[in-house]
Amino acid sequence: MRILFWLGLLVLIILALKKKMQPPRSPVATTSRPDPQNPASAEAMVCCAHCQIYLPASEAVQRGEQVYCSKEHADLA
Ligand SMILES: [Zn+2]
Repeated sequence: MRILFWLGLLVLIILALKKKMQPPRSPVATTSRPDPQNPASAEAMVCCAHCQIYLPASEAVQRGEQVYCSKEHADLA
């Protein structure tokens, strides 16, 4: 019966180590909160309807349902 005690203790130690190894913050929590040092990393990217280039949503030009990288492309469409 003594081996069962040691096996149980070993399992408890492994579980405790696994908990310690886990990162303190989940990746979902970090992406939902904008990083003050790099605000662009958390920002949504949109695709220009004219040239298909990707750019941050804050820099995009919205024209109706479509978004464009610049006013020029919005006028061309
Ligand atoms: Zn464009």
